[in-house]
Amino acid sequence: IRDLSVDAASTEHAESIVQAVKALPEIKVINVYDRTFNLHRGGKISIASRIPLKSVSDLAMAYTPGVGRICNAIAQNPEEVYNLTIKRNTVAIVTDGSAVLGLGNLGPEAALPVMEGKAMLFKEFAGIDAFPICLATQNTEEIIQAVKNIAPVFGGVNLEDIAAPRCFEIEQRLRQELDIPVFHDDQHGTAIVTLAALFNALRVVHKSITDIRIVINGAGAAGVAIAHLLRKAGAEKIWMCDSKGIISTSRTDLTPEKQEFAVKAQGTLAGAMQGADVFIGVSAPGVLTPEMVASMAKDPIVFAMANPIPEIQPELVGNKVAVIATGRSDYPNQINNVLAFPGVFRGALDCRANTITTTMYLEAASAIASLVKPSDLDREHIIPSVFDDRVVGAVAGAVQRAARDEGIAKR
Ligand code: NAP
Ligand code: MG
Repeated sequence: IRDLSVDAASTEHAESIVQAVKALPEIKVINVYDRTFNLHRGGKISIASRIPLKSVSDLAMAYTPGVGRICNAIAQNPEEVYNLTIKRNTVAIVTDGSAVLGLGNLGPEAALPVMEGKAMLFKEFAGIDAFPICLATQNTEEIIQAVKNIAPVFGGVNLEDIAAPRCFEIEQRLRQELDIPVFHDDQHGTAIVTLAALFNALRVVHKSITDIRIVINGAGAAGVAIAHLLRKAGAEKIWMCDSKGIISTSRTDLTPEKQEFAVKAQGTLAGAMQGADVFIGVSAPGVLTPEMVASMAKDPIVFAMANPIPEIQPELVGNKVAVIATGRSDYPNQINNVLAFPGVFRGALDCRANTITTTMYLEAASAIASLVKPSDLDREHIIPSVFDDRVVGAVAGAVQRAARDEGIAKR
């Protein structure tokens, strides 16, 4: 009797493995467990109290009548909510379930396991208490209103897995209308980590961000935010593509977000790739071909970040590129948002910044990049590991310095 343990990519994949094993001669399957489902039973997080509740006296202080004095103190001076409640270390993870991972519009209940997972990451990496909030509406105004109405509890808001282009307006409005930091991780977390990886990839090939031409394939939440941040970091030649090809000034179907990056060139991704120095894919599986990569400039850099299946399998281009990165942990150079968002919120909460700025994104990207020492930097090591315990502190420190420089740190 042997235990056979496998990691399946989907329920169908798991079932096919079970069937294949059952079909083997002289093998009898006694039992099948699904570790991943078992792990999720009852959910992944819980609330714990921080103080004892053992006696009548404990009760009288933590709850009524003692707590009444705390309420009055906050009513008289609302700023005290930051001293006397959970607010200063608490983030709302808000989704409408419209763009769950790469799975699509699965709705709020199906989004909950992802948001619980995100809450785990906030806690494990940055000690932040984050609450999954899955809203039963996909109406922009209703989402904005709901977040504003729950904001008193939270020191920050992390928008998550809300589909483009709705996500752009929701974030922008909430940033204007709330006095706590609002951050859409699928946009800015991705942009920060991509820029960090690009800084180091450019060091490997000795090119400068101001000289290179970058193709960003995918002009959704991630693509648009990456384009904005790369531009702020000095990139001058960015061509974006979406499912219809190059985002060109000749097109009449562009949203305002896409229009901002429209270029004179027109055509397909294949055309855009000719002579390009960098490809950044946040689009769809398998859309980049080895021929397109072969048409790039010398020492090409390819970030194929579509999850879980990248724009091109790294095996297909191997040594034909100078640097390749993906969103996956089973290849070198994993571009993963967990390098950014825990530290961004740790920094913003700790200095009571009322917003998160582009300068913070840039500083965070530099801080992540600089954790790879020059002596360790090479084509298979452009970004620190997600388990590198220096990352959160480095990002949080960078965010706080930026907040102080910009005069928005309240503490
Ligand atoms: P999104 O908002 O839905 O945007 C997807 C974009 O990709 C859209 O602009 C869409 O074009 C475009 N697209 C779809 N099929 C395409 C094709 N065949 N060729 C060119 N463009 C195509 O999604 P998102 O949140 O930005 O994420 C996009 C992808 O990046 C997902 O696979 C996601 O998992 C991945 N991602 C990875 C990381 C990471 O590794 N760190 C972070 C964020 C996102 P239209 O506008 O024409 O519809
Ligand atoms: Mg997400």
